[in-house]
Amino acid sequence: MKRSRINPVSKKRRSLEVERRATRELVLARDLNRCQCCVPGCTFHATDVHEIKSRARGGNIIAIDGDLSNFLSLCRYCHHFITTNPAWAEARGFAVPSWAGPAEMRAAERARLQFLYGSEPEEFDEDDDGQDA
Ligand SMILES: [Zn+2]
Repeated sequence: MKRSRINPVSKKRRSLEVERRATRELVLARDLNRCQCCVPGCTFHATDVHEIKSRARGGNIIAIDGDLSNFLSLCRYCHHFITTNPAWAEARGFAVPSWAGPAEMRAAERARLQFLYGSEPEEFDEDDDGQDA
């Protein structure tokens, strides 16, 4: 009797993994492999890609139409810190609740910038391309 081997990973799962790896590379390149959190103990070199709205909360785990806004490059230390301190992370925009929509994602980005750079939310110019005029 001919037996076919059971795939250890389904085709669907395998193609998702390919997309996840591609998303991961795009996020690390966008962030220049620098950790985007920097709590005391940060190693600065990003090795992990964090989902701001986690997969458990319904967040994207792959870029949809090139949208990388749900992802941050983090060093392993900061990633561990964020995932083990969810209330801290939510207060500073590194995590959002399951019901977060586009407005909450923008508020989380402002909270992160304020945490990282100490700027007031009003000072953040969404059109700023990061280049000096
Ligand atoms: Zn870090």
